Amino acid sequence: MIAVLKPNTSEQQVQNLISWLESMNLGVHVSRGDFQTVLGLIGDTSKVDIDLLEGLDVIESVTRISEPYKKANRKFHPEDTVVDVAGVKIGGGHFGMIAGPCSIETEEQIIEVASRVKAAGANILRGGAFKPRTSPYAFQGLKADGIELLREAKYVTGLPIVSEIMNANHLPLFEDVDLIQVGARNMQNFELLKELGHINKPVLLKRGLANTLKELLMSAEYIMAGGNENVILCERGIRTFEPYTRNTLDLSAIPALREMSHLPIVVDPSHACGISRMVKPMALAAAACGADGLMIEVHNDPKKALCDGAQSLTPDQFDDVAACVRRVREAVKDA
Ligand code: PEP
Ligand code: MN
Repeated sequence: MIAVLKPNTSEQQVQNLISWLESMNLGVHVSRGDFQTVLGLIGDTSKVDIDLLEGLDVIESVTRISEPYKKANRKFHPEDTVVDVAGVKIGGGHFGMIAGPCSIETEEQIIEVASRVKAAGANILRGGAFKPRTSPYAFQGLKADGIELLREAKYVTGLPIVSEIMNANHLPLFEDVDLIQVGARNMQNFELLKELGHINKPVLLKRGLANTLKELLMSAEYIMAGGNENVILCERGIRTFEPYTRNTLDLSAIPALREMSHLPIVVDPSHACGISRMVKPMALAAAACGADGLMIEVHNDPKKALCDGAQSLTPDQFDDVAACVRRVREAVKDA
């Protein structure tokens, strides 16, 4: 249930209302906008007398909501959420350009790629240290050593870093990682999501290969329900009957999630297509239809990459994509 308060409600009146609602065993989520405060009532609202609530002086309107995701729901929180990744804002008009290799391989590789993507305009560096590979015989990532090299690249370039976590026991290794990625394969690893709900760090939550948008938001809800509301959603392609591309990029997820949720939405065209020449058109399309950011794989020598070379851009190609994305964003800013 959502209660929208009248614009001039005083802080004391808000507090009195919250105490009264809490005395009915309801959780209250407060969203303070520039003009209005919205209260999200969480818990068993079936016994709340909606007429009584609507009759209060401070209440403008009350709506029952049926969606099972409450904290991620835009109805609870009408304004776009802006997530701060070590000083880089994503959402609400702020664009996150995340780039870097699929996997961290060597010191030279990560430092070179980091410097090049930074020069091209990226504001967050990616690099996988724990890799979820389909084959147990494929390169599994450099693990703790990889995180160490990524930290080094952060100190050399000043870029905040993002890396994927697969096991909550690894959290101590992620102390200096600014944005924690939950990969597509772990989108419904609920124990991992619950643990990430208790940390004080933003989470990049990728959509599962065969998950609906509602399921994605329910996974975000797991993290938010634990108290960590800094979640960024990521559309990275879903599995369809079409084998030509690695996955099928669901661009309509962007306007759909925009309606459903206030959380920022990032698009990963690299894993969506699996083919480097398709990354640029899909990145531009995502920027044109309102993504709050992109995540793009870049390798200094894609032919020799230990993982996902076929979909990785060279630094020169990334220069071009980043510049074109800026032009597209400029062209659609008033659309
Ligand atoms: C990745 O970003 O490195 C990755 C493995 O992506 P996904 O979980 O989307 O497959
Ligand atoms: Mn990859």
